Amino acid sequence: MSAVASLSPFLSALSLHWGYSSFRPGQEEIAASIAAGRDACVVMPTGGGKSLCYQLPAALAESRTAIVISPLIALMQDQVAQLDEMGIPAAVLNSSQSPSQREAVRRGALSGKFRLLYLSPESIAQEGTLRWLKSLALSFFVIDEAHCISDWGHDFRPEYRLLSRLRREFPELPIAAFTASATQHVRHDIVSQLGLRDPFKYIASFYRPNLCYLVRECTRTEQEAILLDSLRSLEDGSAIVYASTIKRVEQIQEFLKENKIDAVAYHGKMDSGDRRKNQQLWSADEVRVVVGTVAFGLGINKPGVRKVIHLALPKSIEQYYQEAGRAGRDGNAADCLLLWQKRDQATIGFFISQIGDAQEKERAWQRFHEIRDFVDREVCRQFEICSHFGERPKWTSCGKCDVCAGLPDAINRASFVEAAQTNIPPLAKNKSARLSSSSIPRSTNSARDNLRLLMSYEESLGLARKKLNATDRKSSQSSSNFEPTRLR
Ligand SMILES: [Zn+2]
Repeated sequence: MSAVASLSPFLSALSLHWGYSSFRPGQEEIAASIAAGRDACVVMPTGGGKSLCYQLPAALAESRTAIVISPLIALMQDQVAQLDEMGIPAAVLNSSQSPSQREAVRRGALSGKFRLLYLSPESIAQEGTLRWLKSLALSFFVIDEAHCISDWGHDFRPEYRLLSRLRREFPELPIAAFTASATQHVRHDIVSQLGLRDPFKYIASFYRPNLCYLVRECTRTEQEAILLDSLRSLEDGSAIVYASTIKRVEQIQEFLKENKIDAVAYHGKMDSGDRRKNQQLWSADEVRVVVGTVAFGLGINKPGVRKVIHLALPKSIEQYYQEAGRAGRDGNAADCLLLWQKRDQATIGFFISQIGDAQEKERAWQRFHEIRDFVDREVCRQFEICSHFGERPKWTSCGKCDVCAGLPDAINRASFVEAAQTNIPPLAKNKSARLSSSSIPRSTNSARDNLRLLMSYEESLGLARKKLNATDRKSSQSSSNFEPTRLR
């Protein structure tokens, strides 16, 4: 008997298809639970080895097919290509295929050829899809990016609501929901919307020890100078720069070009062919920097991203965690820079004021207060993120974020801005010379400045008066810029 054959079926499959000799935390339990026919609700940060948890039991379910619902065609195609290389038969069925391609996939599926079949959530809505699925021998359903089903989440997609039909139409089949970011509220929503029955719940830690979170409030000039320095000191791997608007993406790309840094752009208004081309250039390391809006990144699984730089306040901690988490997926050290400007809060406030639905508006304000709280507080960034997702870490300091270790010298340099305005020489990378956190000049804007800016946007909700009172009371006890309302 060979060494592989004497192992458990899960370990042999892991060794045979993936070439690994051991599981990462949680993977075996989740895979075994799905294989045993139990529903699952899994929260696992990006890079935690989420897809293996369902691909492995799917690979073991002989002559049956697992249906994977996933939101992005590019992501599905990548996964199918990877599975193909690993010797696991899989296919994707979507609207970008020709009728003859789709027909070939359908025939293959009917013959039980595939262990996994990827579909978009929209296709579940199409008359005939569910009927057709009933003619196949299925093993289980997987809902990827399951947080999209909750309007409490940051990434709600109405078409995900249609997935509630799966439980009604296929009461006997297990459903496994996966997401990389879900607060307690969103998890609850996933379980109830999908009708999960006593699901196996697994919540992985949100602590990413190889990531160094650095948060700094900047002026626009400082922001651009830090960006430039940061990209110039990128020794290996690649970088993602997030800007909040299409206009800003274009400005930054132009700015980088003027400073001889090659970067591709990515945003929702680009032609889909250009988008794909730019993503490929970046993925293949032909261009190391991509500047994009939030449209960039869903399904990106590039291991060697060394820096993720945000040039605006994200709309929520979930969004920030997900985007910043694209750094360091290979487990090596990576930096996540959040360079925000005071005006960002007015921009977000403006967008929130445009939301018609009162409940959705309230949720958007709550997310906004949480991210403001995150950047304002003098609490370890890793600790804040873990706490946000419901973890109770035993430690209080990661030892490397800007709160724990101070900002790197290059980011905090006082003469930096003058240098940036003239002609910036490449700055030496000197992480060992970090300042202690007590010597870092913190933002000088007062609680009242911030509050005034916010008030015009919050007035419509009748919240402004309440917060002003709350801040007045707090101002004698706390130096925090803005005391948010916790609605959690
Ligand atoms: Zn820390």
